[in-house]
Amino acid sequence: MTLYSELQSNPEFAALRAESARLGSDPLQVQGPGGNTSIKSGDLMWVKASGTWLSDALTTDLFVPVYHEALAEALVADDGRADDVGPFTCREENPSGLRASIEATVHASMSARVVLHTHCVATIAAAVRTDAPAFVKSKLAGLPYAFIPYAKPGIDLARAIREHASAGTQILILGNHGLVTCGATVGEANGLLQDVSARLAPSSLAGSAGIDDAFQRRLSGSGWKPVPHGPTQQIAHDARLLTIADGRTLYPDHLVFLGPGVTMVREGEQLTDVLARAGQQQFPSKLVIVPDHGVAMPDTATASDIALARAFGDVLVRIAPQARVSRLSEDQEAELLDWDAEVYRQSLNKAGR
Ligand SMILES: [Zn+2]
Repeated sequence: MTLYSELQSNPEFAALRAESARLGSDPLQVQGPGGNTSIKSGDLMWVKASGTWLSDALTTDLFVPVYHEALAEALVADDGRADDVGPFTCREENPSGLRASIEATVHASMSARVVLHTHCVATIAAAVRTDAPAFVKSKLAGLPYAFIPYAKPGIDLARAIREHASAGTQILILGNHGLVTCGATVGEANGLLQDVSARLAPSSLAGSAGIDDAFQRRLSGSGWKPVPHGPTQQIAHDARLLTIADGRTLYPDHLVFLGPGVTMVREGEQLTDVLARAGQQQFPSKLVIVPDHGVAMPDTATASDIALARAFGDVLVRIAPQARVSRLSEDQEAELLDWDAEVYRQSLNKAGR
């Protein structure tokens, strides 16, 4: 009997798969292959594989076994090998050869048995605020949480967690990133996740807009289409949301799937020129906003791209009117893309961004 078949008879693992599928099917928690869940059993931590979708957790084997204690020790020692979870994977128990996500380092940093990590849009809307630590404090009073300033997932984020969390911490609000909760059981971790999501949800949203017919006609034959989501279309029709959208990236998965920030069509620019430029630059921009008209993305957008384009609207309509936002710096964008910071800056300049 393999350890995996043993795990499959564990009711807590069955509960984790069911909850993972539920979270993965909720676009307000998880978009595309984002988010991950894990359970520790003996020496091994079973964590969602990179690139797989949590929504498939009931129908697919998507958990990868990782030696979590060895990984946690390497993180504490600032051992560079921990920036690639690969060396800590238990190959004998991983016949599918799937790779653990770099975010497995977050899971290994928490000693609790069950860890859930989502890109909850209400949490991101709070975690991108310049006053995020004070705002979160006002909403999560009494809960065992820690606010973790933005750090690149891997050794850097693990170090930030060590600096800001304590032994009893069960909730992490990751600055410009998302939510982590943990517990002895799936029920406990999920109870905290639902509680935090509800507390951080705003009482009202900025709104939702239909797809403008004239905008759709202008795009016809261009290789681009309106983003099929009311809150994302709303951005084009709301001066405050346009200001928030018009700048560098707010959180990592936006950059990874949609490119740096957004491309805004400025006064006097031709839409066709801007669309051509957005699609051809070194880091293609998959979200083009035409103020007062709509938000477009390429016809070739993948399901993941569409999920992230929808999430952009879901996050922005949840940012409170008086809030100011903090963005990833060019250096932080470059390190997420594994680019040399100077080369990255030059290519952005060339693209006129
Ligand atoms: Zn994440």
